[in-house]
Amino acid sequence: MTALSYAVIGAGPSGLAAARNLQRFDIPWQGYELADDVGGLWDIDAPRSTVYESAHLISSRTTTEFTEFPMDPSVADYPSHRDLKRYFDDFASHFNLREGYIFGSEVTSARPVGYGEWEVVANGVTHRHAGVIVANGTLSEPNIPSFSGHFDGELIHSSEYTSATVFAGKRVLVVGAGNSGCDIAVDAVHHAKSIDMSVRRGYHFVPKYMFGRPSDTLNQGKPLPARIKQVIDSRLLRIFTGDPVRLGFPEPDHKLYESHPIVNTLVLHHLGHGDLRVMADIEAFDGGHVRFRDGRREPYDMVLLATGYVLHYPFVDRELLDWNGPAPDLYLNIFSRRDPDLFVVGMVEASGIGWQGRYEQAELVARLIRARTDAPDRARAFAESIAGPNPDLSGGYDYLGLDRMAYYVNKDAYRGAIGAAIRELAAS
Ligand SMILES: Cc1cc2nc3c(=O)[nH]c(=O)nc-3n(C[C@H](O)[C@H](O)[C@H](O)COP(=O)(O)OP(=O)(O)OC[C@H]3O[C@@H](n4cnc5c(N)ncnc54)[C@H](O)[C@@H]3O)c2cc1C
Repeated sequence: MTALSYAVIGAGPSGLAAARNLQRFDIPWQGYELADDVGGLWDIDAPRSTVYESAHLISSRTTTEFTEFPMDPSVADYPSHRDLKRYFDDFASHFNLREGYIFGSEVTSARPVGYGEWEVVANGVTHRHAGVIVANGTLSEPNIPSFSGHFDGELIHSSEYTSATVFAGKRVLVVGAGNSGCDIAVDAVHHAKSIDMSVRRGYHFVPKYMFGRPSDTLNQGKPLPARIKQVIDSRLLRIFTGDPVRLGFPEPDHKLYESHPIVNTLVLHHLGHGDLRVMADIEAFDGGHVRFRDGRREPYDMVLLATGYVLHYPFVDRELLDWNGPAPDLYLNIFSRRDPDLFVVGMVEASGIGWQGRYEQAELVARLIRARTDAPDRARAFAESIAGPNPDLSGGYDYLGLDRMAYYVNKDAYRGAIGAAIRELAAS
């Protein structure tokens, strides 16, 4: 009897990393991808893509790419979504990964049906697998907060936004100043009649370049203790970006790196030019107006919610993923404690984790599956770790207790823990 294959759900960076690592370790696999091709959200035409025309990487090329498949050095430091789509096309071609996928195929159910056997339903057809690697992304299911009152104008979420032409001649309010909110507000400056941003808290703004180099390439591989890094980098930011409070942002309620930093200084540039205004948190919608918590009331034609995304694994029983509040409680953000053949790749957020961080998750999964045959003692020892608590993945940072931080880790602590687990499982 031929061995059952593992199902890989998604052909974005994480799904491709999973497919490639199963291939590397000679483990049979079958991929399912809703879109017509690889690339995940970097394919702007894919049904669940949430990138927009102006989207570029926030982390730089060399800190983001897969180590075994570097991008061509002629690609920009911060590539556009089109460069990235090409990169994943090339990655898939180079390793012949497309032949393992069924494209245009949506998984609607994945459930265990016996020991070491799973049933996956895609486009209404049932398939048998040895296990499932979920890699359906974290940034496609919109988080829509509820507001009191009713807004008469256009109300859209950033997931629906692709081109700044939608702002032409309009009075626009962007809600939220995360990385997408800031990108979109900057886009709007050149099209909208006026553009305001409503924020709940202050943020730390990091420039894309420092000392003439992509800022995330400075001090690579030499992590400093959290407190020292916070002090040094906060001083550097004061020198490079000044004080965002002077431009209208509230004082941050957290230290640098205790939430995802905003890698965008164009927004500060436009605030300094009076092209943008920062507004307080929203109190209520009021017909064609919005009322803010500081008592102001302003008219708008469009409100764009840049309010982020929620995790979404609708095809897997929530109990198998141990949902604990806003995120599943998985060992190392990967391993189900309920079923040994259920894995999630890509459910990780960290400043600078890049696709290599997701690749290492996938390598760990493949090594564990391989070890079950080649080094069962090591696989058993690792299964005991999965049943226990997670190591400290915070790197000493005291992260904000927000829903979106529920699966946030420190890149160095996380990659260190994954690297140690890979070494523990390596058969030779
Ligand atoms: C504007 C923007 C900028 C970003 N910048 C950076 C950056 O600088 N650095 C960085 O590391 N990350 C960045 N990201 C994060 C981004 O999420 C990751 O780079 C990466 O795309 C995550 O890959 P993934 O494969 O986990 O998810 P995705 O890219 O979302 O891919 C998931 C795939 O799963 C498929 N899928 C979903 N559901 C199903 C189903 N039921 N059945 C079959 N297929 C399914 C989808 O069609 C999709 O192809 C950015 C994101 C955005 C939106």
